[in-house]
Amino acid sequence: MNRDPFIAFGVPDLGEEEIQEVVATLRGGWLGKGPRVTAFEAQFAAYKGLGPERAAAVSSCTAALHLSLIAAGVGPGDEVITTPLTFCATANTILQTGAVPVLCDVDPETMNIDVRNISACVTARTKAVLPVHFAGRPCEMDEVLAVARDHGLAVIEDCAHAIEARYRGAPVGTLGDFGCFSFYVTKNITTGEGGMVLARRAEQLARIRRMSLHGMTQDAWQRYAGRGFGQYDVVDCGFKYNMMDLQAAIGLHQLRRLDKARERRQEIWSRYQAAFHVLPVTLPAPVPQHMLHALHLYTLRVDERDSRIGRDEFIERMADLGIGIGIHYKALPEHSYYQQRLGWRPGDTPVATSIGRRSVSLPLSPRLTDEAVDRIVSAVHAVLGG
Ligand SMILES: *Cc1c(COP(=O)(O)O)cnc(C)c1O
Repeated sequence: MNRDPFIAFGVPDLGEEEIQEVVATLRGGWLGKGPRVTAFEAQFAAYKGLGPERAAAVSSCTAALHLSLIAAGVGPGDEVITTPLTFCATANTILQTGAVPVLCDVDPETMNIDVRNISACVTARTKAVLPVHFAGRPCEMDEVLAVARDHGLAVIEDCAHAIEARYRGAPVGTLGDFGCFSFYVTKNITTGEGGMVLARRAEQLARIRRMSLHGMTQDAWQRYAGRGFGQYDVVDCGFKYNMMDLQAAIGLHQLRRLDKARERRQEIWSRYQAAFHVLPVTLPAPVPQHMLHALHLYTLRVDERDSRIGRDEFIERMADLGIGIGIHYKALPEHSYYQQRLGWRPGDTPVATSIGRRSVSLPLSPRLTDEAVDRIVSAVHAVLGG
């Protein structure tokens, strides 16, 4: 049995600056939505090449997706086209608006929504398309936007994996009508829990802001900071989806780590690519010139017919060697809820189902030391090298 410390999947990269800022926030006594959230929004928008007040911080990417769908006017009776190879939140938020997700299978190489199939999924009820930039690789947005233009659809980009990604030079999340980001612990940057929305149209972003705080016209910061009298009006039936200053305190410093952290992940990624191309597994596809990959997930596909070992056994043997492996994702039609409610079957999206049954994600945290990366490389060789 292995004695080295366990290498967990998805370890966040937190520094002393984050700790000090959280402590300062606690000492300052303003924990909720306030000046640090406003600063985090402005700095995130600037990172995306946008002016201040172009981004709204929320409690999660799930909240960001839900509010974007609502702002896009998606509701009961509508359909939203999305990918089957994603986290359940993508589909759940569509269902929560009263609309129905329509799955468009993925491209076997890129693992992104297959842009050649989107228009075949469009019906008279289709209101929006919700692509996910899987693993941090941008979708072919020219094609997505062309279909959306032809059919008058809103485009909501799920950028949970893709903070740093660019498509033809433009930051992802600014290409469609809405861009939704996650700061969950395992994502490229974290606020513990948290999310961000970008919206192309100012009035839609204003609605998202309102809807993230009960549908009130003024937020609590404005109500209680100065000499507010609590003169707010409720103009919409909103949610409690705001971010807190305690979370933004972490995010402000995480943003400053983005480029360095991606550089480190690029080193690890290149090491993996060089080490694994000799093994009987499928590596991530090469990235074309017109894309910058955010390098969120490094996935291998373990096919028992080639590898002589099944995916689940791979994960168990890696765990025995002290290495935590992720799965992204069991395809949506494999989950019982969608089978029962929507009648989905794994065979409906054969490419995503096949990937979901074979895919493993290796640790890719910028926190990994060279020794840890060596251990991971050796373990994958030991398990798959035969
Ligand atoms: C993580 C994730 C989400 C949800 O993000 P939260 O911030 O945890 O709500 C949505 N979509 C994808 C593709 C994700 O990976």
